[in-house]
Amino acid sequence: MTKLSKDNIDRIDKLKKLLDLSSKEVKLLKTAKQIKKATITIRGKKYQAFRVVYNRALGPGKGGIRFHQEVNEEEVTSLSFWMTIKNSLAGIPYGGGKGGVRINPKNLSEADKENLSRQYIDKFYKFLGQDKDIPAPDVYTNSQVMSWMLDEFEKKTQRHEPAMITGKPQELGGLLMRQDATAKGAYIVVKEVIKQHLKKNKPSFAIQGFGNAGSYLAKMLDKDGYKILAVSDSKGAIYNEKGLNVEMLNELKSQGKSVVDYKEAKKISGKEILELDVDILALAALGDQITKANAKNIKSRYILELANGPVSNDADKTLFADGVMIIPDILANAGGVIASYFEWAQNKAGNVLDDNYLIKLLESKMKANWEKVFNQYLETDKKVDLRTAAYMIAIKKILKTEKLRGNI
Ligand code: NAD
Repeated sequence: MTKLSKDNIDRIDKLKKLLDLSSKEVKLLKTAKQIKKATITIRGKKYQAFRVVYNRALGPGKGGIRFHQEVNEEEVTSLSFWMTIKNSLAGIPYGGGKGGVRINPKNLSEADKENLSRQYIDKFYKFLGQDKDIPAPDVYTNSQVMSWMLDEFEKKTQRHEPAMITGKPQELGGLLMRQDATAKGAYIVVKEVIKQHLKKNKPSFAIQGFGNAGSYLAKMLDKDGYKILAVSDSKGAIYNEKGLNVEMLNELKSQGKSVVDYKEAKKISGKEILELDVDILALAALGDQITKANAKNIKSRYILELANGPVSNDADKTLFADGVMIIPDILANAGGVIASYFEWAQNKAGNVLDDNYLIKLLESKMKANWEKVFNQYLETDKKVDLRTAAYMIAIKKILKTEKLRGNI
């Protein structure tokens, strides 16, 4: 029995009505194709590891690996379901996958991390490969982890296969553009939204989470003259109604400090930043940040999701009824996996394309995906939110492919 979160089960049930799905189709959507589990031992302690391929209709599995103390089967399965939907919507030739190890990475030395990465591959390498299932970085895994994993895979299989994993350093076939591609994708979409829907020329922003996705987004917005009034990280949040100096914030982060060490702003709580009166609230930290408990307090009219699943199903309903436009994760944060696709395709073909060309390609793909989702929303007479519209497109495509394959 697939362990999919209740929110995702409810979403599929909602789509059943909207798309008039058969019970066979619903069953297929609620079932992961492959769930693999293993135990990894570090310094005598045992840790659970997972790799899930949710669906393969459109291509091999694709999705990151996270090292985090809260990883569990339900979370990995739900994340792999979202990857399936995201890849289908993005128009890239992948199914969906995800992996993880239930471990606190902050307690690990570099040698432990290498050991963990190599053991992960040792347990799962038979199920991975450029045409089977392709991992990438996720929370607390990075290009160094990808390098160890590639090396271990190639040692085991005794051949070079750089396309078996993405998010690698450039020296091993990675792309420079991958680093800020998630933020760039979100930035391209939000600029379309501003152009088409906001009456203001330069709306204000608050950004929850100042890691890879959030800090690059801040940099891009700042360069373009947008005001960022508030940011947060795991230590807390800061606010200045006149705007924050993004360069200074990045400087603090590069010194290993927190955004709360920034002096020219008021300290506020992690809860308060979500409820500020700013035009656009960007969520770039964790899942389930806006739920039934705080949805009613949200003042921003636009929410940009860079994190996966930051708004719960219940909150979606409240915010939609209140007229808040949510630019959903499966659309807004797809820049990362699109750049991963470019890396994979280049590694497979063995040719080298210019980064500027690929950045343009990312831009046109993100714009086209935004248009697709907004048009689907219009086709439903604006009766569903953008997330549901995005799911409708992605699911129709997956089911059509499954039908062509003769699986339903
Ligand atoms: P990261 O680890 O680089 O940054 C996460 C940030 O969130 C850090 O600044 C951390 O301090 C902050 N944070 C943690 N707990 C917080 C809290 N309670 N309140 C406020 N901030 C908090 O991770 P990232 O790569 O930037 O990813 C952020 C989110 O975006 C994740 O949900 C990830 O799954 C999603 N995402 C990232 C990518 C990518 O390519 N980086 C792609 C798709 C989705």
